[in-house]
Amino acid sequence: ARLPLKRALISVSDKEGLIPFATRLSEAGVELLSTGGTAKALREAGLDVRDVSDVTGFPEIMDGRVKTLHPKVHGGLLADRSKSSHIEAMEENGIEGIDLLVVNLYPFEATLARGADYDEMVENIDIGGPAMIRAAAKNHAHVAIVTDTEDYTVITDALAEGGTTFDDRKKLAATAYARTAAYDAAISGWFQKELGDLLPRRVVIAGTRLDELRYGENPHQPAALYKGTEDRPGITATTQHQGKALSYNNINDADAAVELVSEFFPPAVAIIKHANPCGVASGDNLLEAYERALACDPVSAFGGIVAVNRPLDAKTAEEIVKIFTEIVIAPAIEDGVAEIFAKKKNLRLLTTSELPDPRMGHMRARPVAGGFLYQFMDNGQVFPEDMKVVTKRTPSGEEKADLLFAFKVAKHVKSNAIVYVKDGATVGIGAGQMSRLDSTRIAVRKSQDAAEAMGLETPLVSGSVVASDAFFPFPDGLISAAEAGATAVIQPGGSIRDEEVIAAADERGLAMVFTGMRHFRH
Ligand code: 5GP
Repeated sequence: ARLPLKRALISVSDKEGLIPFATRLSEAGVELLSTGGTAKALREAGLDVRDVSDVTGFPEIMDGRVKTLHPKVHGGLLADRSKSSHIEAMEENGIEGIDLLVVNLYPFEATLARGADYDEMVENIDIGGPAMIRAAAKNHAHVAIVTDTEDYTVITDALAEGGTTFDDRKKLAATAYARTAAYDAAISGWFQKELGDLLPRRVVIAGTRLDELRYGENPHQPAALYKGTEDRPGITATTQHQGKALSYNNINDADAAVELVSEFFPPAVAIIKHANPCGVASGDNLLEAYERALACDPVSAFGGIVAVNRPLDAKTAEEIVKIFTEIVIAPAIEDGVAEIFAKKKNLRLLTTSELPDPRMGHMRARPVAGGFLYQFMDNGQVFPEDMKVVTKRTPSGEEKADLLFAFKVAKHVKSNAIVYVKDGATVGIGAGQMSRLDSTRIAVRKSQDAAEAMGLETPLVSGSVVASDAFFPFPDGLISAAEAGATAVIQPGGSIRDEEVIAAADERGLAMVFTGMRHFRH
């Protein structure tokens, strides 16, 4: 059975869509009750409204901290109309039933995003709003609760049918409790940050659905993309300009791509497959960087994701569309790029406007059965002064620059990660192997394949430098890299066999630096 609407209480901070919605309610004969600012907005639009302070017989006090916190409001929201005792209590106390509650909360998250001071943050903690939302949602048998302007249509559609269904109200209640939970998560997260406590005893991870996806990693897994309570430029803040909807795997890969390319200051390009780079390069411009990134592993780059750290120019776009590319992600696009991509219907173009700052710390959660792991994201960076030379030979200036480049890339490669770099471009990447030696060999073999494809005699790794995301546990990985032609090595160090590994490097005339920082990525 549908529940007709007689009385609605509206108290909203975000007044978007309010007037047309309230007008529809009013036209349908619904009586409107409202708090100060909302009532004013409704009156200005010529609607008939009763002030909540009239209903409660109590003024809004303490700068609005106490507006709706009153038995006449909460009784109207919580009364179980199927119980005679509740009906009697309503009659005895002059409580009128409320059938629809429309509340969106003080904009705590938006206030946080604009960097307001402590007192303003505290004042933006809504008390009466969540109290009403929770009350109405609990009593969803009799009350519809709307907490999101996007759900106004649920009510207007229902009105046209004669009222809301139980199913409508259940869904709205579920959204409502997710909203209050997310709200409290944002407040708790703000307190945690203020306290500088990285590992709170209790954590709420909350998000708002941005896109429903066709499916998850595989077709039998339902999935969606959610935006968390913290604002971060990157994959959750992109605009799609063309191409079909992104898949779960696309989003995961595009995330890896944009985070990686944001590490570099000069023009840089990263090509990603399955969340691992198959080519990363810098250059004097994006075109040069793209060509060099592609050269690292042109076979794997097919169907890849290309991320750039500069506004994308038409010349580079022309080059990108020469091979099948799933997604291009750029801070912005220059003139002519849209037209070039428009010819490739399947290519998705995303812009981020801002690139994420790799130094910024954010929390990252990762699900495990029955819970999640929670850590500060890997925002570690290694600078020239952090490189400790451990071999007889000191790396040359060019080697040093390449070592730092390689180590930055290695941070974004699944462990065990081995990355060969020459002149600011990767020339061999070994990712995700269970043995470091295997990663070393795979990187070299891929580099040989790439050289063969280009008709080169020597593999690209000869004369390169090599980065390892964690220490070499045995000299074998390093020896294998030296045999492939690497001349310098960057790695965290810290193995009990460091001395053996250093001796192996010295024997072969390699220069090696320790960073003291590990970049595992599992
Ligand atoms: P208005 O603009 O109508 O004056 O205020 C609307 C806002 O007040 C809404 O965001 C609503 O959640 C919030 N609100 C409603 N009642 C109370 C209350 O009793 N205390 C506090 N702190 N906020 C309230």
